[in-house]
Amino acid sequence: MILTVKTKAKTELIDITSQVQKQIDSLARESGITDGLCMLFVPHTTAAVTINESADPSVREDILTVLNEMVPWNAPYRHLEGNSPAHIKSSLIGASELVVVENGRLVLGTWQGIFFCEFDGPRTRKVNVKLLGNSA
Ligand code: ZN
Repeated sequence: MILTVKTKAKTELIDITSQVQKQIDSLARESGITDGLCMLFVPHTTAAVTINESADPSVREDILTVLNEMVPWNAPYRHLEGNSPAHIKSSLIGASELVVVENGRLVLGTWQGIFFCEFDGPRTRKVNVKLLGNSA
């Protein structure tokens, strides 16, 4: 299943946990799989997916602040498209995550949320969501 994410800023982290859970709900209904793994894959070279604290929004701001300091927009990059920092951040964070699914629910820690990471927005993005497991 494809989850569509509309980003609004050049760089931002968007909490997609509830949208992923909705996809898992319908995938579980269709397949009969209630226990297994949720695989998330971002098919973009200037975006990523990560899991981190969703309770305090300052955490995602701090992550972006540090990433922007680590990978500045102005540097002697060779890539002519001008978005090398976005490509580099995408590789630093990564294009996929795996989350355990039990009884049809994503098993996340109390403070954890799933974040889509936009590094060259705003754009309309996709996240591939798969539910892997054996049906009863
Ligand atoms: Zn590029």
